[in-house]
Amino acid sequence: MTGAVAARIGRRWAVLGGGVLGMRLAGKLAETGDHVELFESAPALGGLAGVWTIGDFTWDKHYHVMLRSDRHLLALLDELDLKQETRWSRTRAGFYSGGRLHSLSDALDFLRFPLLGPFQKLRLAATILRAAQIRDWRTLERTTVSSWLIRWSGRATYERIWLPLLRAKLGEGYRTASAAFIWATIARLYGARRTEKKREEFGFVTGGYSRILERFQEGQQNCGSKNQPSHGPPILHELPSTTERGD
Ligand SMILES: Cc1cc2nc3c(=O)[nH]c(=O)nc-3n(C[C@H](O)[C@H](O)[C@H](O)COP(=O)(O)OP(=O)(O)OC[C@H]3O[C@@H](n4cnc5c(N)ncnc54)[C@H](O)[C@@H]3O)c2cc1C
Repeated sequence: MTGAVAARIGRRWAVLGGGVLGMRLAGKLAETGDHVELFESAPALGGLAGVWTIGDFTWDKHYHVMLRSDRHLLALLDELDLKQETRWSRTRAGFYSGGRLHSLSDALDFLRFPLLGPFQKLRLAATILRAAQIRDWRTLERTTVSSWLIRWSGRATYERIWLPLLRAKLGEGYRTASAAFIWATIARLYGARRTEKKREEFGFVTGGYSRILERFQEGQQNCGSKNQPSHGPPILHELPSTTERGD
C-alpha cells in the first residue's frame, strides 16, 4: 500500500489519504497519544477498498478476497474484532477455453488438463515453483512479466494460459507490468496452500469492505474523533489524541 503520506509537525500528525493504509496509520498514531488529522480528498474513506452505494445496496468497488496467507490483513481484522464475521470457503479453479470449462482445482485436474502437453505442464509447474521460491523480488522489477513468463513457461504456454489471465487482470497494462507482479500473485496463492489447512480457501467479511470501513470508523470514534463528512476536497477527519480526551 502506498497511498498515504504522513508528516510530523511537533506533536501533531497530518496523514494524507484515507485509504486502508492512511486509516490504519492514523489510528496507530492516535493510539500513541499524538494529535492526528486525516485528510481525504474523495467524498468517502476507503480508497481502492471503498464501496459503492445505491439506495439500500452497498458493495465493494473492486473485488477483494482474503487468503489464509494474508497475515497482516487477518491480524488487522482480529484487531477490528471482525474475525467472527469472516467466512471461508474452499475454492475451485477452472480454465475456460474453446467453449469448455476445464477444472484445474487439484493435481489430477492438472494432469488431465487438455490444453497443454506433458512437457509444457512440467514447465508451467516449474514456473510456479520458481516464483514461489523467490525471496528478493527487486531484480524482477527490471524484467517485464511477459518476458519472464515466456522464459520459464515457453511461448505456447504463455499465449494459451498466461496471456489471457494477464489481459483479464491488467488490460493492456500487461505490456509494461514487471515480473514482480506475477511473483507477488503466485507467492500469495502458493503461500495460502502452505498454511495448516493445506488447501486453498477464499475468505470475506460478511458485508464486504463496507463493514471493515465501518469498524475502522467506529474505532476512530472510540478515540474521540470528530468526523466531518462534508463533500468536496479535502474532507478533514480529526483523531484527537487519547491523552487529550483524558483516557
Ligand atoms: C481490482 C482490485 C482488486 C484488488 N484485490 C485485492 C485483494 O484481493 N487483496 C488485497 O490485499 N488487495 C487487493 N487490491 C489492492 C488493495 O485494494 C489496495 O492495495 C489498497 O486498498 C491500497 O490502499 P492504500 O491506502 O495504500 O491506497 P488507496 O486505496 O489508493 O488510498 C489512497 C487514498 O488517498 C486519497 N488521496 C490521494 N491523494 C490525496 C491528496 N492529495 N489529498 C487527500 N487525499 C488523497 C485517495 O482519494 C484515496 O482515498 C485490489 C485492488 C484492485 C483495484
